[in-house]
Amino acid sequence: MTPGKPDKPEKPGKPDKGKKKHKPTLADLEPAPAGPDECIFCRIVAAELPSRQVYADDHAVAFLDINAWHRGHTLVIPRRHVEDLVSGEPTLPEIAPAVDAVARMLKDRLAPDGINVLSSAGVAAGQTVFHAHVHVIPRYADQPGFTHLVNPVEVPEGELESVWRQISDGS
Ligand code: 5GP
Ligand code: ZN
Repeated sequence: MTPGKPDKPEKPGKPDKGKKKHKPTLADLEPAPAGPDECIFCRIVAAELPSRQVYADDHAVAFLDINAWHRGHTLVIPRRHVEDLVSGEPTLPEIAPAVDAVARMLKDRLAPDGINVLSSAGVAAGQTVFHAHVHVIPRYADQPGFTHLVNPVEVPEGELESVWRQISDGS
């Protein structure tokens, strides 16, 4: 771009003859699944990365989602690295007690109007972090139903901190 001169507007529309139109496939969306060494959730389990932990047992750890869809959105993850809940040895039975405990704790401490429990396996299902996890999402009557489920909002640090305290202290 020449300084002082406005950018040339792009010429509208003739298709580029030389180039074949690329039809997007799932492979285009596929991020390289992180191995255990570079996995952010393994690093959270190892306390190499910070998290707002709300629960832990021998098999699982639970912490607040950094991009909460709704107040109190929590992730329950197995301590061992596995890509998703339908790969390798069965993981769901191992973390089910943690999922149950977390869902009941959120119900008790935050008094939501409802709760969703869900897990995504694979890019096509919406998975973005390739260490298995279960989302436990408190729901509130002002944003009901599936249409409002995935509703990532910028959550201010203070808000995450305050809900974390409310869950942890039971206050
Ligand atoms: P998925 O899209 O794979 O079902 O869910 C991954 C979730 O992990 C997302 O909701 C995302 O906000 C959350 N997440 C990604 N990175 C971090 C992180 O470093 N810390 C926390 N607490 N949550 C994360
Ligand atoms: Zn991992």
